[in-house]
Amino acid sequence: MSDTMECYRDMDLREVFGRHVFCDSVMRERLPRETYRALHKTIQEGTRLETEVANVVAHAMMEWAIEHGATHYTHWFQPLNGFTAEKHDSFLSVPFGADKAIAEFSGKELIKGEPDASSFPSGGLRATFEARGYTAWDCTSPAFLKEDSSGVTLCIPTAFCSYNGEALDKKTPLLRSVEAISKQAIRILRLFGDEETKRVNVCCGPEQEYFLIDKEMFKKRPDLVFTGRTLFGCKPPKTQEMDDHYFGTLKERVSAFMKELDFELWKVGVMAKTKHNEAAPAQHELAPIFDTVNIATDHNQLTMELMKKIADRHGMACLLHEKPFAGINGSGKHNNWSLSTDGGTNLFNPGKTPRENAQFLIFLCAVLKAIDEHAELIRASAANAGNDYRLGALEAPPAIISVFLGDELAEVLDEVEKGIKRDVNFGGKMDFGVPTLPAFQLDKTDRNRTSPFAFTGNKFEFRMVPSSASVAGPNTVLNTVVADALCEIADELEGAKDFGKAVSSVLSKLVKKHKRVIFDGNGYGEEWVKEAEKRGLPNVTNSVDSYAAFIKDESVRVFEKHHVYTKAELDSRYEIKMEKYIKINTIEAHTMLEMCRKQIMPAVMSYSDHVAKTIVHLKATGIPVDMQTNEETLLCVTRNLAKLNSTVKKLERAVERAAGLEGDFVKAAHFMRDSVVATMQEVRKYADSLEMCVGKEYWPIPTYSDLIYSV
Ligand code: ADP
Ligand code: MG
Repeated sequence: MSDTMECYRDMDLREVFGRHVFCDSVMRERLPRETYRALHKTIQEGTRLETEVANVVAHAMMEWAIEHGATHYTHWFQPLNGFTAEKHDSFLSVPFGADKAIAEFSGKELIKGEPDASSFPSGGLRATFEARGYTAWDCTSPAFLKEDSSGVTLCIPTAFCSYNGEALDKKTPLLRSVEAISKQAIRILRLFGDEETKRVNVCCGPEQEYFLIDKEMFKKRPDLVFTGRTLFGCKPPKTQEMDDHYFGTLKERVSAFMKELDFELWKVGVMAKTKHNEAAPAQHELAPIFDTVNIATDHNQLTMELMKKIADRHGMACLLHEKPFAGINGSGKHNNWSLSTDGGTNLFNPGKTPRENAQFLIFLCAVLKAIDEHAELIRASAANAGNDYRLGALEAPPAIISVFLGDELAEVLDEVEKGIKRDVNFGGKMDFGVPTLPAFQLDKTDRNRTSPFAFTGNKFEFRMVPSSASVAGPNTVLNTVVADALCEIADELEGAKDFGKAVSSVLSKLVKKHKRVIFDGNGYGEEWVKEAEKRGLPNVTNSVDSYAAFIKDESVRVFEKHHVYTKAELDSRYEIKMEKYIKINTIEAHTMLEMCRKQIMPAVMSYSDHVAKTIVHLKATGIPVDMQTNEETLLCVTRNLAKLNSTVKKLERAVERAAGLEGDFVKAAHFMRDSVVATMQEVRKYADSLEMCVGKEYWPIPTYSDLIYSV
């Protein structure tokens, strides 16, 4: 148990929550009223922040941070490498000629930073001679303190862009996409008579899955250390067949980790809510209470960071990879997504009156339209090298994008399409004349665990999202494509003479056109693949193919129209994603080769040597023993070893050829997928066969049984 653990025992969780956040109540308490108001307006309405205001805020923030033990501040940002970045500056200042230090933090330092950014991926957006990148304070995500045994640091969430204003991070496009969807959603709300709403927020609750294994075991597996997943390993006799781990009793060691994690998350304002064991042995999940998508994204990054850090304190390693172990459940990040007005109305809540229902159906059908028209983009937003091993395997949703609505809602849409009117007594005044819309009151939707995109009562759950990735990307895409659908719908409705009739006809058209994307059956079945093909739904099975969606003309049009990404920014994302795919697989291949050459093959040779010697020895004794077992073992070992040796050589050649393709990332990524990754599977096959015929004490690395039952 770690030391910090002890001190949580007597704490009141209400006192702990938000203790390390420069939150609204702290600002209200510490800022002069005028400053607070100005800042509040900036946060709520996106107005410009004046320098004088920034100076006062910066000073108050510094004082607060120092009182909590902080010595440094950092602009905390999310570059395109998928991680978070920070460069620490102390508050220390010594005026020229003085011999005493003062603490200083100006508005300018709060608002803007200039980290040398040449080593972050930019996908050609920023030539290295123009290495300067700028970080800009995102005041809509509160500043917080990071505390550990090394001290306390004030972290200021920031956006990161180039000298020319091109986004070099994940936050900027996300914020732009929120603006886009808010703008379009408000157009729809106005049509339905809502004059109050000023902003529509995107809400997100990302459920984070992860594995915990013993740190000592982890360290003995170079593949886990270098790549985050096992490149070898046979499935143990028992994994998740008995369904005994899912929601099972928490082991004390795991529970202690979770408790410390909860407290550390609460301190920085992350609303950690639910925790439980997941399907696979050693697999767990944490779900926060949903928040606006910008904050939820920052918080999810923090959650992943703290998971790793706290696991380490507890002598464990936290694996966030999508498929750390072949053959058993992988990890995802169910991205719960909804739209909510600034007054707190969830726009995906089916209403109590026909009028509310009509508006709900418009938003619902906008999502159907968006998902159907941009299925490949949605798919691409959840693609990474790790997810290639997960999508379509075991628990994971298939690579085909479809939407689950539940029987009742599907029936309602069917009636909408056909213009059937249902007679339901709402008990209220029928104040909205939509002639052919069915009236309905929904029960909570039924469940479907196999759909990649499921409507779950008042929100959508996008289940393809990779466990290790930032949720910024998928949400940016989702927000933008839905914004575009809402925009087209608003265009049509705004011009209508008879609004009621127009709503009915628009809905009917939308359902007719996009119902093919609705699928309520078993998404894991083979029949679905065939059915989806018949319906013309794309089935993009790997990330290399899927990334192309980012640079398709239609994608460029949508992103540019809504000012989310420029074409140059999209090109850069495409390049970075492809390059990352190449790098990950290069590292995996090198790790595999090294493990084969330095660990597995020598171990197998020792074992076969031992068996061979035994055979010779037994033969020499002249005792009449049955040699069959020994000889068969030796045969199995030597055969598989020979095959392993030849596939290792094949992999070496493939890796070498891939390296020769540097400079042409499209060709290199395809070669990686078709040749290197494919050969890696072959190498694994023979290595795993050897694991099954070599004596346990000879096998040089912890096995799956050792790893997944290590905690
Ligand atoms: P599950 O049954 O899939 O575990 P839950 O209902 O427990 O789903 O919620 C899972 C996540 O969805 C939580 O993070 C929760 O806060 C979030 N969530 C709930 N309502 C919304 C909403 N309206 N918008 C976005 N996320 C939501
Ligand atoms: Mg879920």
